[in-house]
Amino acid sequence: MSDSYAVIGNPVAHSQSPRIHAAFALQTSQDIIYKTLYCEVGAFAATVAVFRDSGGRGLNVTLPFKHEACKLANWRSVRAQSAGAANTLTFDAQGMTADNTDGIGLVRDITENLRVTLRDKRILLLGAGGASYGVAGPLLEEAPRALVVVNRTESKADALVKHFAPIAARCALSSCAYDVLRKTGAGFDVVINATSAGLTGDMPDLCDEVLNEGALAYDMVYGRVTPFMAFAQARGVQVADGLGMLVEQAAESYYIWRRVRPKTAPVMEMLRREATTS
Ligand code: NAP
Repeated sequence: MSDSYAVIGNPVAHSQSPRIHAAFALQTSQDIIYKTLYCEVGAFAATVAVFRDSGGRGLNVTLPFKHEACKLANWRSVRAQSAGAANTLTFDAQGMTADNTDGIGLVRDITENLRVTLRDKRILLLGAGGASYGVAGPLLEEAPRALVVVNRTESKADALVKHFAPIAARCALSSCAYDVLRKTGAGFDVVINATSAGLTGDMPDLCDEVLNEGALAYDMVYGRVTPFMAFAQARGVQVADGLGMLVEQAAESYYIWRRVRPKTAPVMEMLRREATTS
């Protein structure tokens, strides 16, 4: 019988994860099935238990259950502990282990696929939700010169900075309000949009000066040109959407489960080809 995996979330029907993991399995000759698993809010633990009891080997976790997944597990990786959230659960004889592959997925996409180094760079992180918590630790590990976090609800940016301050080492980690950022006119080498603003066609409140010449503007949203991406394109800097992060975080989950590392480039190409022909 095939080993069974799924992505659990609400909503989840739109998820690309089944396509991605099916492509990984074909490429690496692994016998798995991977489905979407819709879960009512308030029923996470029970839904996970049913999946696991029916022989499920692992779950990817998406909105709004990442924090709950981290708490539910018996064991947590350093990455999951640091983020306080998990996007990967593994079931085995030891119980349930939580991990978070979002950060490594983003960092691999930026440093390996887009070939942009983060060391000594000035990074601006927009948003202080679950995705920002997932990526802040791995970004700091790349030893940037500065990491500034800006969020619409300022107190959440302050809380994120407080949470990660102990591991910031020599990086200048700070929070800032959008209006203060506009007034200072500070420039950044890498601007990462980890807000969901693009999903509703909204644009974080940025000024032109925020993007240094030759900067990378990265939006975690994929499958559309967001106002943030259009803003960056108009300024002639390098622009990327979150498809690479999506595939890289999936590849890391796949590696955790199968101990086989799939090639990500052909899967990204497949998804981009499908998006342009649909
Ligand atoms: P979340 O926990 O709901 O946080 C949403 C964040 O966006 C908050 O900081 C929120 O600010 C901010 N925001 C929402 N609308 C805004 C607006 N109009 N202007 C400015 N800020 C706004 O969501 P999340 O889990 O962090 O996910 C964030 C985005 O990343 C989502 O679009 C998600 O799809 C994407 N994502 C992509 C990947 C990938 O693999 N590519 C992985 C994870 C997440 P407030 O705190 O003020 O509400």
